[in-house]
Amino acid sequence: MRERHIGASCKLFFKSDPLKIVRASKQYMYDEAGNEYLDCINNVCHVGHCHPAVVKAGWEQAQVLNTNSRFLHDNIVLLAQKLSSLFPSKLQVCYFTNSGSEANDLAIRLARIHTKHNDTIVIDHAYHGHTWEVLGLSPYKHKSRDDLPDWCHIVENPDAYRGKYTSDEHADLGTKYADEVAAKIAEIQASGRSVAAFFAESIQSCAGQVFLPEGYLRQVYKHVRAAGGICVADEVQCGFGRVGSPHWWAFQLQGEDIIPDIVTIGKPMGNGHPVAAVITTAEIAESFNKSGVEYFNTYGGNPVSCAVALSVIKVLEDEKLREHAKEVGEYMLEKLKEMSNRHSLIGDVRGIGLFVGIELVKDRVTKEPASAIAQHVIFRMKESRILLSADGPHRNVLKLKPPMCFSKANVDSVFALLNTVLTEVREVKAEHIQSAVHALMGGANGPIRGELRQTESCRINSSKPPAKKLRKI
Ligand code: PMP
Repeated sequence: MRERHIGASCKLFFKSDPLKIVRASKQYMYDEAGNEYLDCINNVCHVGHCHPAVVKAGWEQAQVLNTNSRFLHDNIVLLAQKLSSLFPSKLQVCYFTNSGSEANDLAIRLARIHTKHNDTIVIDHAYHGHTWEVLGLSPYKHKSRDDLPDWCHIVENPDAYRGKYTSDEHADLGTKYADEVAAKIAEIQASGRSVAAFFAESIQSCAGQVFLPEGYLRQVYKHVRAAGGICVADEVQCGFGRVGSPHWWAFQLQGEDIIPDIVTIGKPMGNGHPVAAVITTAEIAESFNKSGVEYFNTYGGNPVSCAVALSVIKVLEDEKLREHAKEVGEYMLEKLKEMSNRHSLIGDVRGIGLFVGIELVKDRVTKEPASAIAQHVIFRMKESRILLSADGPHRNVLKLKPPMCFSKANVDSVFALLNTVLTEVREVKAEHIQSAVHALMGGANGPIRGELRQTESCRINSSKPPAKKLRKI
């Protein structure tokens, strides 16, 4: 039925042996046979899958009223007021949407109207959403830079591990990468164009769990504003306290003085319910208003969505989940650093709070990405009912961004298994792993690009565990 009625471009996790998840609770998901999976990647069900308080808030409001936001209602203003209180005071006006893509799409519109400029600057490999306009802002989704619209300009990913400037070889990476933005602005202006906005996730997620170097945003924001542009922080993945206390937002990691002109939020905001928002300044909101075009979004800001989002924030506060994320995140990083001493496949570990990346490499000196191995690790972990994913331009960065209730005991289970799988990987030929993974991911049409696509052979029966079929050398 799925193949017939759902568009083939809607991809599944684990193409050859996909999971049918029928229920979930806290950090656990359950398949149709009742098997329990530890969810290390669900940054949407932020305060835990189906959190009873959040479910109750939505259910109670749904029984009374749900309608569009053209009527007065307490929930929309209470949510806007609560959200504003979590941001620097300059950011006080909210627009509600139903998804992160819509929020970023609206952010482009606000930026263009306010600045009267047109072009945007984005970080290489970034993803900002699926609508036509924000797809144009998302190098992650394009095979070639030439596929991006002419108004989108890409700057280097400020990746201290494998970027143009690395912490092994260079000092003051914040300035070096910010200078790249300054150079890009000069290039844009020299071609007679103008910068409306600089868009950046406050931690690069799809681009490989990359943390912005110290001082980067401070300098970039200065350059962008000097060019008459505004600065947009995409917190769709990394917001709502994921980076641990004392912060609510990842842009705050760059310093308390860093204040974007627009922040977009989504995913964790509704704990699985579709609600997202744009938060901006009174000046930008006024320019938008003066444009004379009404902002109407049928579902954006409806009473049920707002009740759900208010409840998510309350749970984060009541259960002290930001403090928990800090504590568990520090424990996780410590364990990971220990593990990287044992496994040369681990080239780099980075993280803060419950946002962690483990970059796998075939060789620590050349940093050759271990993309196929990363996919193999994910499949092996899945067989043992732990859900991980890999991302970054080479798909070799294992990502951990679990629900905020993830515990230290969960960290121990994940790393015990990861240790076993990485040990096992050392004992088998990498190309066998590559062909196994290739088969499992659906061959040349699977979601993995590059290295895996080049492999021709498919020797492994995809319904069987790949590692057990691999020949030891
Ligand atoms: N921005 C970022 C950083 C995202 O990760 C995503 C979704 N992966 C989006 C925007 C788009 O959000 P949505 O899927 O809710 O439209």
